[in-house]
Amino acid sequence: MKNKTIILVTTTLLACIALFGQAQTTGKKYVMVIHGGAGNILKKNMTAVKEAAYTQALTLALQKGYEQIMSGKTSVDAIQAAIIILEDSPLFNAGKGAVFTHEGRNELDAAIMYGSTLAAGAVAGVTIVKNPISAARLVMEKSGHVMLAGSGADKFAAAAGLEIVDPSYFWTKESWDSFQGVLKADSVKQAQGNMKSMNRGAVNNDSKFGTVGAVALDKAGNLAAGTSTGGMTNKKFGRIGDAPIIGAGTYANNKTAAISCTGWGEFYIRSVAAYDVSALMEYSRMKVAAASKTVLGKIQKLGGTGGLIALDKNGNVATPFNTSGMYRGMISEDGKVEVYMYK
Ligand code: ASP
Repeated sequence: MKNKTIILVTTTLLACIALFGQAQTTGKKYVMVIHGGAGNILKKNMTAVKEAAYTQALTLALQKGYEQIMSGKTSVDAIQAAIIILEDSPLFNAGKGAVFTHEGRNELDAAIMYGSTLAAGAVAGVTIVKNPISAARLVMEKSGHVMLAGSGADKFAAAAGLEIVDPSYFWTKESWDSFQGVLKADSVKQAQGNMKSMNRGAVNNDSKFGTVGAVALDKAGNLAAGTSTGGMTNKKFGRIGDAPIIGAGTYANNKTAAISCTGWGEFYIRSVAAYDVSALMEYSRMKVAAASKTVLGKIQKLGGTGGLIALDKNGNVATPFNTSGMYRGMISEDGKVEVYMYK
């Protein structure tokens, strides 16, 4: 009788664990997730044409990454292929279409990390590299360093044979107009003596978002993460955000997950956000969804806004955000694309 009770309790417990496990995942195995930035993305502000353009760009990026994975290439190849599409699209705050600094320049940040070896590379404040994600990859593979900044990073990329463009290449009317809007709002605040709320940039005042990121899982079971951004509108003094900082905006570890963040970078740096997701999974045995939610909760508590994407070694996905929307998409093992924008 006692044995029977023990068996019954054990079976019920196992069933509960199985159910809980299922509730944490969709049961589907994803091989790549991307984001195109979090912010004030509302259906009522979107035209059908704009929605279609975002959907098309995100779909193409996912397909390019997927092609790499299916042909047996690494997750790093997939990340790079997907992010290049998003950097080349003027819709996003990365590569062409990047936001403007206070001086009216474009200073771009990017990072990439390989979960198999924990190799990582990043560039910050580059101004002439057409695809900063490719520069980040070269830093990882060829420089002997992890992070290069400013003119040195530009020089390194040029010497390595990457495509170099005139800084005017990054200019788009939409970014310029939103920069002018932020400058105007700032001068009003300055006149009112409200210095504290000035210059907080894109995510807070919703003038422009669109940092891009990707996380991928290749056929060999290796994870990678990458992020690329123009940073925040009206940034000053050589400001660098979370995106190129390994562990803050970008992190990948085969033991846990690959993570790419978007949002108000200062909060993600202070929270060491991407690494925190991985650490919660590694040390607290949290699942990717719970760890991602916990980290976003911590950021929110500090006053930060944004989101993140995470993909674990089993193909489970988490895409939490605390803004009204986040451009995001994922592709499963069977090639099915899903794209979302709103809550
Ligand atoms: N996280 C980026 C930064 O702070 C901006 C963004 O994701 O929109 O540079």
